[in-house]
Amino acid sequence: MTARRHPRLFIDQPLHPGADVSPSEAQAHYLTNVMRLKTGDPLRVFNGRDGEWTARLRTITKKGCALEAEAQTRPQTSDPDVWLVFAPIKRARIDLIVEKATELGAGVLWPVFTQHTNAERINLDRLRATAVEAAEQSERLSVPDVREPMSLPDVIGQWPARRLLFVLDETGAGQSIAAGLSDVASQPCGFLVGPEGGFATAELELLAKQTFARRISLGPRILRAETAALAALAVWQSVVGDWR
Ligand code: SAH
Repeated sequence: MTARRHPRLFIDQPLHPGADVSPSEAQAHYLTNVMRLKTGDPLRVFNGRDGEWTARLRTITKKGCALEAEAQTRPQTSDPDVWLVFAPIKRARIDLIVEKATELGAGVLWPVFTQHTNAERINLDRLRATAVEAAEQSERLSVPDVREPMSLPDVIGQWPARRLLFVLDETGAGQSIAAGLSDVASQPCGFLVGPEGGFATAELELLAKQTFARRISLGPRILRAETAALAALAVWQSVVGDWR
């Protein structure tokens, strides 16, 4: 079995040679019952700070299992700096956004309530678990920060002044995404995607007043929110991020 095929888990505990690592109950179940690892079997772990490590299963008990970290396989690297702010949509689609945006390297995933958001209850625990799984499977060394949902005015109020916010505007009033990204270099960025009902005019006006916000267009077709979010992240990665 090559190292890549070893199970890979995000465990938010210190990693150094010989570190004792305790997986959660669900992770222990996955390792021992699903993957059927035995005592002494290798796996890989990461915590978002100390890079990726090989580890070994040391003990299996009824309640769980214990691991020991062995050696670092990859040092921690910094991620390209892009955030995604998105209006909650139906369950299967919001899960898709979180999974794919994690694969596409977003550092922060921030649900935002807009005027036309059909706010179903959003289950942050499920979204965070989805982000962890996607980070594990995509070989990321970090897990995106899935933030507490906020209203659009609150997100705007808390937005860091030096981070550009690209507003995905389906009305076609904005620049093309290629033009919008042409002078960005390594500046921190974020994308804002509206709900199925689109942005309200007052929201677009409020956004237009912010020095950090730029409206951009993804062409003449109206995309589903999840398509728009993932297309924008892909373009950003290829023009500004780590696909270059
Ligand atoms: N209700 C709107 C469509 C909303 S699509 C209508 O029927 O006109 C959901 C979100 O996806 C939008 O708010 C926008 O953020 C994004 N989006 C969809 N198509 C887009 C495009 N061509 N350019 C930029 N953003 C787009």
